[in-house]
Amino acid sequence: MPSGSGSSGCGGSHFSHSSTSHGYSGSRVVRPIIIGNCYLNTKDSQKVNDQRVGGVFLIMFGLFMFLIMFFISLDLNKIKEDRDRYINMIQNANNDSRYIREGTITGIGYNDNGDKYYYTYMIDTDNNSGSLSGYTYSIYTKEQIDTFVIGSKTYFAVEDLYITQESDSVNMDYIYFDLEDDGEYANNITGMKILPIIGIIMLLCSIPCFVSANKLIKANKKPIRDHENIDDPTHTYCKYCGFEVEPNAKTCKYCGVDLTEK
Ligand SMILES: [Zn+2]
Repeated sequence: MPSGSGSSGCGGSHFSHSSTSHGYSGSRVVRPIIIGNCYLNTKDSQKVNDQRVGGVFLIMFGLFMFLIMFFISLDLNKIKEDRDRYINMIQNANNDSRYIREGTITGIGYNDNGDKYYYTYMIDTDNNSGSLSGYTYSIYTKEQIDTFVIGSKTYFAVEDLYITQESDSVNMDYIYFDLEDDGEYANNITGMKILPIIGIIMLLCSIPCFVSANKLIKANKKPIRDHENIDDPTHTYCKYCGFEVEPNAKTCKYCGVDLTEK
């Protein structure tokens, strides 16, 4: 319908989910996690980090579902507002037939939102600027759209008496359709039902990640050896776990840290 206005409910969709993939750069140096005066070896520290990162991403994706819901609710409001405006235009045209114009059906379109169809049309303008083109919302079922023949005429309510290419128009039969008949509206309502479930599941799934990380820490943490008071320059001590290591050792055999790294 929105001939001039950039409105919702047309052939296109309003948002698209883009799946985000993130890679973990494997070359990152893992240091032992230090908890008070205890440490966790690098292998377990890596596991804990992975579990925490997984938990954080689940939370973020869970919250993202609610962000999408927010935008869908804006979209739903827009669809409702548009509908009210077009119903008013049709009622106005029913009271004053000068607001009814004949237009030509120019094409049929399919919108997979709710498996609905729409058609495109043209109405002659009054300022010789060519035709005003528009489309209906995706409200028609297959059976309904088959009754519209390309090239045939049908009636539209228009917002102005002097029609330009910017004038808004709506198919007169739109008044017989409910909001629920709009494919995009129905699709958004479905989204509003599914997204919170997905969001909550993701938030709940993040909990085991953190619980598991904490269990791993509790089970495997070992006390750091205090070498602060050992005044012996002939010995080398790991700066993370405090245990004595070979002077030329590349990795600490206790906590697993890379000793060649500064
Ligand atoms: Zn160490």
